[in-house]
Amino acid sequence: MSIKSRFQPLLEQRAKEHLYRRRPLATTAQDTAMQINGVQTINFSSNDYLGLANHPALKNVLQETGDLSVGSGAAHLVTGHHLEHHLLEDELADWLGFDRALLFSTGYMANLAVQPALMQKGDWIVSDKLNHASLLDGAQLSSAELKRYAHNDMDALEKRLKQAHKDNIQCLVVTDGVFSMDGDLANLPAIQKLAQKYDAWLLVDDAHGIGVMGSQGKGCFEYFGLQADENTILMGTLGKAFGTSGAFVAGSEVAIEALIQFARPYIYTTAMSPVNAKVTRAALKLVKDADVRRQQLMDNIAFFRKGAEAIGLNLMPSESAIQPILLGDSEVAIAWSDALKQSGCWVSAIRPPTVPKDTARLRITLSASHTHAQIQQLLEALAAIQAKSST
Ligand code: PMP
Repeated sequence: MSIKSRFQPLLEQRAKEHLYRRRPLATTAQDTAMQINGVQTINFSSNDYLGLANHPALKNVLQETGDLSVGSGAAHLVTGHHLEHHLLEDELADWLGFDRALLFSTGYMANLAVQPALMQKGDWIVSDKLNHASLLDGAQLSSAELKRYAHNDMDALEKRLKQAHKDNIQCLVVTDGVFSMDGDLANLPAIQKLAQKYDAWLLVDDAHGIGVMGSQGKGCFEYFGLQADENTILMGTLGKAFGTSGAFVAGSEVAIEALIQFARPYIYTTAMSPVNAKVTRAALKLVKDADVRRQQLMDNIAFFRKGAEAIGLNLMPSESAIQPILLGDSEVAIAWSDALKQSGCWVSAIRPPTVPKDTARLRITLSASHTHAQIQQLLEALAAIQAKSST
């Protein structure tokens, strides 16, 4: 059988179900105003929450990296681990109050790494059903058993942990901090309490919380006023609020050493570019000093929600920068997304399998860099589409 004869029908089926994915082509720098597919648009589908991806201060640092090689040349355990990586790890750990941090080239790789390295046959990975795809993939790579609980359902979580505790099974509770497609927060205070009560370990993917949530941007733990304990592992990405790329895992001395020894997606891959590490160190300084930007972002979220509620849009209960509008049908979501594009606003339609069946949605993400005028333009475009679709 040829590849074509297997996949041509599958591709055609995807298109028929309005699930075909395409890659929009950016021809200007990542920013709130940019050119995508040759058209000038306001970007409401970026994770650049603090507006750092195209920040002049970071571009200046980039100009000053001439002493570094462009590529790291090797894996961290070979000769790729550069002082810039090492310093960034120390600075991240220090900022977040963990013993150590470990860099990964992407958040996806970090999430593939942790669960298989730490969890063994006979253990349980107890995971929220709406966790990011990379956490699910990481769990499936592990020899531990995967037990999924209904989204943020603390009774269901406790039931699993109680049962495991009784049977002497080691559990790792796994949750997003901010859920990537819904924008709501994990009930971290309850989750931490349950994990501690039943001797479970905790892995929090705070990809969308780091830099944004909490008064100093330290993420969901800070937002809830929680202190991570020695059995907590935190994953944070650098490609979102930090505006660069890559990710880190923070944890205790022993947890990080265990990852260095046993995490295959850490060991068998080329280290991120030292240039990226150096620019990310500068980004960390900006993130630490970004109180005004965080306030602008929160103000933009409130401005958008107030306007969207006034129009009667089907908002989800999210206080984060991720503000989805639930539409249900994939074809409808695409029609809304296309109409918004024609009004000069870029908003992605998120469809299954990324979200559960019949829950297609527009996923609007806000940035500190959006102006009220840009958000107002989006609200007016949404109001016009809403009015048209209800007649
Ligand atoms: N976790 C979550 C919750 C995410 O939303 C994403 C990316 N969208 C990732 C992990 C993966 O991070 P990266 O893009 O750095 O691979």
